[in-house]
Amino acid sequence: MFRMPRLELNRSLHAPQNWGYKDRLRKTGHRITPQREQILELLHRAPHRMGALELCARAEGMNPATVYRNLKFLIEVGLVRAVELQGELSYELVNPNAPHHHLLCRKCGLEQIVSAHAATGFYAQLQETYGFRPDTNHWVIYGLCERCQSNEERVSKPLI
Ligand SMILES: [Zn+2]
Ligand SMILES: [Zn+2]
Repeated sequence: MFRMPRLELNRSLHAPQNWGYKDRLRKTGHRITPQREQILELLHRAPHRMGALELCARAEGMNPATVYRNLKFLIEVGLVRAVELQGELSYELVNPNAPHHHLLCRKCGLEQIVSAHAATGFYAQLQETYGFRPDTNHWVIYGLCERCQSNEERVSKPLI
């Protein structure tokens, strides 16, 4: 049974203060509307990512349709990313300076954010062996966290 994720935070992999979304938005040639700005601010203050329902609940003066419309826009211009975890969508800021992956424990729901640099060797190997370059440097990897692994070992030991 999957429980609500506990999130292990690494602030350096979240959006730093100098994330500069206003400049990035301006560079896309689009306007900074109060709605766009509010959604970006909410995501910036969130512990890494935020579900659509929570985003709708926190957005002031916006109905869900407006929130979704603005999210769609922010995803299209590459400032926000939709992440699917256990079948549920949530949203996070795209910070090109801090690429990361999500490690999700399928047993206890622990979610860890790890630097994408951890997979650099794997990318190089894909390129070298298969001449293949993946589209994304953002993965959600399911597995067992350290604690759940040791619990599993204890259970599977013979009772002699
Ligand atoms: Zn992410
Ligand atoms: Zn676990």
